[in-house]
Amino acid sequence: MHEFSMAIEVINLAQREAVKNKANSIQKITIEVGDLSGVDADAFESALGLLVKDSILDQALVTLIRTPGLGRCNSCNDEFEMNHRMATCPKCQCFPSEISGGEEFRVVSLTVA
Ligand SMILES: [Zn+2]
Repeated sequence: MHEFSMAIEVINLAQREAVKNKANSIQKITIEVGDLSGVDADAFESALGLLVKDSILDQALVTLIRTPGLGRCNSCNDEFEMNHRMATCPKCQCFPSEISGGEEFRVVSLTVA
């Protein structure tokens, strides 16, 4: 499952950061998951919940920030919430629109203990 490999990647990243900072654990980690990132935030959260056991993130406070998908219409320049990649402009029904937000999947902050 895709979300499992994303969770493993996040744990590996946290592990590298901890080694770099000579820390034994991570206190806090904040991850941004965009609605259009292709990562299911709920599935990711439960995958991470399973995988953190005995990892560097075992004791860490995990915060997920979900960012809504944002699109900008190429014809009328209107910005609107996009719940999927193929969404058309609600004003003029134009397609394609440019994605202007919600594609992020990244670790925003990490605090070593
Ligand atoms: Zn439009």
